[in-house]
Amino acid sequence: METENVVARLKSSGLLRTKGLIGGIWIDAYDGKTIEVYNPANGEVIASVACMGEREAKDAITSAYDAFSHWSKLTALDRSSRLRKWYQISIIRYHVILYNLVIEHKEELGQLITLEQGKPLKEAIAEVVYGASFIEFFAEEAKRVYGDILPSPLPDRRLFVLKQPVGVVGAITPWNFPLAMITRKVGPALACGCTVVIKPSELTPLTALAVAELALQSGIPPGVLNVVMGDAPNIGKSLLESPKVRKITFTGSTAVGKKLMAGAAETVKKVSLELGGNAPCIIFDDADLEVALKGSLATKFRNAGQTCVCANRLLVQEGIYDKFINAFSNAVQNLKVGNGFNEGVTQGPLINEAAVQKVETLVQDAISKGAKIVVGGKRHNLGFTFYEPTIIGDVRNEMLIARQEIFGPVTPVIRFKTEEEAIQIANDTDSGLAAYMFTNNIQRSWRVTEALEYGIVGVNEGLFSSEVAPFGGFKQSGLGREGSKYGLDEYLEIKCVCMGNMG
Ligand code: NAP
Repeated sequence: METENVVARLKSSGLLRTKGLIGGIWIDAYDGKTIEVYNPANGEVIASVACMGEREAKDAITSAYDAFSHWSKLTALDRSSRLRKWYQISIIRYHVILYNLVIEHKEELGQLITLEQGKPLKEAIAEVVYGASFIEFFAEEAKRVYGDILPSPLPDRRLFVLKQPVGVVGAITPWNFPLAMITRKVGPALACGCTVVIKPSELTPLTALAVAELALQSGIPPGVLNVVMGDAPNIGKSLLESPKVRKITFTGSTAVGKKLMAGAAETVKKVSLELGGNAPCIIFDDADLEVALKGSLATKFRNAGQTCVCANRLLVQEGIYDKFINAFSNAVQNLKVGNGFNEGVTQGPLINEAAVQKVETLVQDAISKGAKIVVGGKRHNLGFTFYEPTIIGDVRNEMLIARQEIFGPVTPVIRFKTEEEAIQIANDTDSGLAAYMFTNNIQRSWRVTEALEYGIVGVNEGLFSSEVAPFGGFKQSGLGREGSKYGLDEYLEIKCVCMGNMG
């Protein structure tokens, strides 16, 4: 019923798109195939969307390639104002009229995210605001792609550096942030003058299509932004094989990221990878208990544990262990699980049955090796893909649950004695995306930050992703950075020009 109501509202606002977007035209799969998109909270079908493959991907690449010659030649100011319009349209904020299409539609987009991804509506709307911030930020940065003039070693020569867009970008995104993972790529790509073919997850294509609809409405020209979804391996293959595609930007699992990196080698494309994490969250004896509690709850249970920067392991020092676990258990027991549309719910469903089974396997493995359930530990009585917010004590770092990305509302807790031991455990993984620590000792916070092999470190803070901060990982968590001034470089080529005979 609720699915029907939300779908009806979205249809009337024109944001429920179910076809792919190629060259500014909404297109069915060429063979008419469709895939169903489900509401993970109740299993209801939300919509059927075009199930595309190689042929549609090739046409989307051609359309992006053709659009590049025009889009890349626009002035930075022109691109900036179109991006800004995408982001804005008539909302009153800070007593100024701003124009932001994504923000204007934040309620509808939020509902769409909750419907197909499951996160609580408040969190979904926060994702819209977060995701939109990348369009706004890169609309500004579009005007700041500066080159350089270099001091020449020879008197009759002049040397300078131009920065130019790389060309057509293939952007492959996951289901856990169906909006923000797109805008974090498309914002800087378009700002630099690149054009894109987006491949959203088949689990959450509706948000991507709605965002593309708003891009069209805001005057982003046909072909600059294309969307194809369906047969992921074949769409991926087309993007990798085409010499017209000059860059692959991917957010998703490390396993798929490695395949894409290998596939991109054939045509030597630029590659950016935002992959899986295994974040340690270290609570030292000298932490402020309240601050540590708030921070670790936020970093663990956001999106029911389904983010790449969620704490995957809680490392708690022995002196604060009992006090912390008591307080943490009380807080976790009070988390409200349910359909993301219900008031007060903070924990939605997991994305699908396979995700629940993975969590169950990891929990069973830990118990079989001596870990103890402190809170939760099984499927929630709401059924479907709901899982109880869980704490598991007596975990050791060699257990599967501490080595793999859990991607669910389960907190394994590891006890440690010394700072050196905490650092050793924290770094004992192939991942290196986010890490957190809670301590009131300023020297320790600096020392441990330097020792952690991670791209993002939160000190007394569990939640801080932002458009101004570089996001990305060390080791097998990825390559390159998204967001911030550094995010722009991923979409630019550097051209060195030498003018001779200038003496
Ligand atoms: P995934 O299975 O790797 O899928 C990610 C995307 O890749 C989806 O669009 C998927 O399409 C597509 N894909 C799958 N196989 C492919 C292939 N052979 N060729 C081309 N594309 C292919 O990851 P996920 O389960 O959606 O997302 C969860 C993972 O993403 C976690 O590991 C998480 O840590 C990571 N993540 C990382 C960040 C970060 O910034 N570092 C942010 C968010 C998530 P289909 O879904 O249609 O199959």
